Amino acid sequence: MKTLLRNIHTLVTCDDADRILHGVDMLCDGPAVAAIGQLPDDTRADDVIDAGNLIVYPGLINTHHHLYQYFTRNLPALQKYELFDWLTALYDIWEGLDAETVRYSSLAGLGELMRHGCTTCFDHHYVFPNGRDGLIETQFEVADQLGIRMTASRGSMNLSRKDGGLPPESVVQDTDTILLDSERLIKAYHDPSRFSMHRMVLAPCSPFSVTADLLRESAALARQYGVLLHTHLCETIDEENFTLARTGMRPLAYMQSLGWVGNDVFYAHGIHFNDEEIRLLAETGTGIAHCPCSNMKLASGTARIPDLLAAGVKVGLAVDGSASNDGSNLMDEMRAAYLLHRAVWGKRAPSGYDILRLATRGSASLLGRDDIGRLSVGCAADFFCIRADRSDLLCAVRSPEDLFGTVGYHRAADLVYVNGVKTVEDGELTRMDDGAILEGGTRAVHRLLDRA
Ligand code: ZN
Repeated sequence: MKTLLRNIHTLVTCDDADRILHGVDMLCDGPAVAAIGQLPDDTRADDVIDAGNLIVYPGLINTHHHLYQYFTRNLPALQKYELFDWLTALYDIWEGLDAETVRYSSLAGLGELMRHGCTTCFDHHYVFPNGRDGLIETQFEVADQLGIRMTASRGSMNLSRKDGGLPPESVVQDTDTILLDSERLIKAYHDPSRFSMHRMVLAPCSPFSVTADLLRESAALARQYGVLLHTHLCETIDEENFTLARTGMRPLAYMQSLGWVGNDVFYAHGIHFNDEEIRLLAETGTGIAHCPCSNMKLASGTARIPDLLAAGVKVGLAVDGSASNDGSNLMDEMRAAYLLHRAVWGKRAPSGYDILRLATRGSASLLGRDDIGRLSVGCAADFFCIRADRSDLLCAVRSPEDLFGTVGYHRAADLVYVNGVKTVEDGELTRMDDGAILEGGTRAVHRLLDRA
């Protein structure tokens, strides 16, 4: 399949030279961008799009999510909680998760992401109630249905309340079960090839829900198979107090003692680091998935993004689970990130374009990929388009690279392509009927919340 975009109004490439091009053509051949420039009139393609009114961006990349939480968002009783109380209240509901909950929450959450320009999602799934199988398999199935590039994870929890952890017995598993299932899923799904649509990550949940042994053994298994490692870290002061009391170490020192720093490790949140820890992250290539909406909603704090970037730490953007956001929309997340850092850091805050770079190039670097996150020849044909000719973008179109942060964009994307395949058109998913997601999802929500 070849798709040719002719005479693009503005192409924001996020490439190495940060080029912003006007009036160029872009040819996609199969999964890749084959050419950018003034292409000959006789250039052949299966589909030719007149892009004279379209602004084209690299697909956005989400680096931390819990899709299953889509069905426990906006719960009135939890709106004033902070992380530990919030989790404690939710574990009892999540105990009811099954493959149908995961199917419809993934369809809804991934659908919302895609309609707003996301082309790659990393999900951190760590709740495996006893006897409920097929959860990660279902996520890959759903991603294939929708056409999004998916990095899933085998998350885990093995430290319950009786052993000093936070979660109840009903949602933890034993170490052997977790490691065997992790290896099975890596073998079944992990595809390290260029343009790959399926990858696996090992992702024990957090220092307060997982033992040191499981963290150490997960790292060894991940490195045996060349997959990445991920967990929540330095999200709250409660977490810091927990690791200090239990191990005598601050969270990052504890993780370092278990082999959890390096180019193959990325952490969600990364709020409460000191200067020395930021230097360690930079020196070791350890990455941070920044989740501003979740951090604000749960009153966790503000990540030191200007300091992380100045030190050379890899930073990507993420929506976090939908129960702490409570949405699944990276366009919103870019706006929140921009405003949050302006309020806290003033002149040192990232620009609108800096934030777009986090959501594209930065996120790609966390997921260990150089084939996505930019539009240049040889990279994946992952992109989204918005129309430049609507009054809500008047004036704002003069700096399209900044507008998601500075102005905000309040519509769905007009077109979204993943690996050269159209997945969203006129703001709607092309491969899945929204009515079917709504109907099945409504049943799944009732079942989950009524059971609780
Ligand atoms: Zn999270």
